[in-house]
Amino acid sequence: MADPRLADAAGRLGRAIVKSAVGAAQQRARDGEIPPGAVAEAALAELPEHATTLRPVINATGVLLHTNLGRAPLSDAARAALTAAAGCADVEYDLATGRRGPRGSGTLAALHEACPAAEAVQVVNNNAGALVLAATALAADREIIISRGEMVEIGDGFRLPDLLTATGARLREVGTTNRTTAGDYAAAIGPATGFILKVHPSNFRIEGFTAAAPIDALAALDVPLVVDIGSGLLTPDQALPDEPDATTMLNAGADLVTASADKLLGGPQGGLILGRRDLVNHLRRHPLYRALRVDKLTLAALEATLRGPRPPASRMLHTPVRALRARAERLAKDLAGHDIDALAADTTATVGGGGAPGVDLPSAAISLPATFEAPLRARRVIGRIENGRLLLDLRSTGPADDGPLQAAVLASKEAEV
Ligand SMILES: *Cc1c(COP(=O)(O)O)cnc(C)c1O
Repeated sequence: MADPRLADAAGRLGRAIVKSAVGAAQQRARDGEIPPGAVAEAALAELPEHATTLRPVINATGVLLHTNLGRAPLSDAARAALTAAAGCADVEYDLATGRRGPRGSGTLAALHEACPAAEAVQVVNNNAGALVLAATALAADREIIISRGEMVEIGDGFRLPDLLTATGARLREVGTTNRTTAGDYAAAIGPATGFILKVHPSNFRIEGFTAAAPIDALAALDVPLVVDIGSGLLTPDQALPDEPDATTMLNAGADLVTASADKLLGGPQGGLILGRRDLVNHLRRHPLYRALRVDKLTLAALEATLRGPRPPASRMLHTPVRALRARAERLAKDLAGHDIDALAADTTATVGGGGAPGVDLPSAAISLPATFEAPLRARRVIGRIENGRLLLDLRSTGPADDGPLQAAVLASKEAEV
């Protein structure tokens, strides 16, 4: 590392990353792509900003909660909180007494305040973890009664039924794909029943001749009712009237509700467990809980999401379409001024696998020639191709992304020709 800037970078990023960038630049020099004297410069240009291969992207796909792009972006408050907790923190220590303290009590208090309909709350690694914990603690070697219409594949080949049976629980399927009644569940209850599980079909929709059992009818049955609402809405959201929320489910009689923290709640990856105190405590005391508990970074980011200003996921959902149109028109006009075939276009965005399947959110996009797709992706701007054009959908971005978006399109202009 003769070049002091490379030595500096090695101090920041580690030697291995810098060595590999130098190696790649030397190869380019041997191949005659760059002059030998430009190796250090080329290596510096290739260095990542951080010592990780995870790179920030701008999600202009119009899918608000894109699992491949990290689901909910954290609020500034949550980012700051997790950075502050990244060193040593009083995660299980009482600063007042100097003794061991309860882990994550501030985060759990914030969750409880946000959903007082629950007697008790707990947090684990993700919603899948919450379901595994519930199935293990309440139904190992017993039966979980579930509708045939709610045997959901979450994504990436992972299927909820497989996850549940992996715990040793048996599934007792009731009803049909399109219709399941409270009577179907009632008829399946027996001495082996662990609980009834209701799963929100969060990534598909069945229309037509359908029936699902109401929560209050299932709650009246004499076995625990666990409801997986998926998206993590704690209270109803008028923008998504069909999306279930924890408060409504608990008030209707659900004994436990599970949800993700990184979907519509807008927080870090996490699994929320809300409901009856005895059941929540039972899950909390199960040995498996220890394998699913969250770290200080999650506790910090989740608490800041709950206590802090509205997170981006909620802002993106509620931004009036006229504000998106104004941004699209301003950006398109500016880009057109640089001789780019850019137009403002009306379009529709979606919430994504995280919830509200089939709900179209009115949106606005910058429409560009499709040839911009690859050069923009190289600059970590991800859009979508529609009718032969590249759309940069602004609903899944924030106003702070406009500057970087514009710069990326301008920089892509040369690559485009
Ligand atoms: C997303 C989702 C899950 C999985 O949640 P993770 O937090 O990703 O583990 C489970 N059930 C439903 C209904 C979902 O929507």
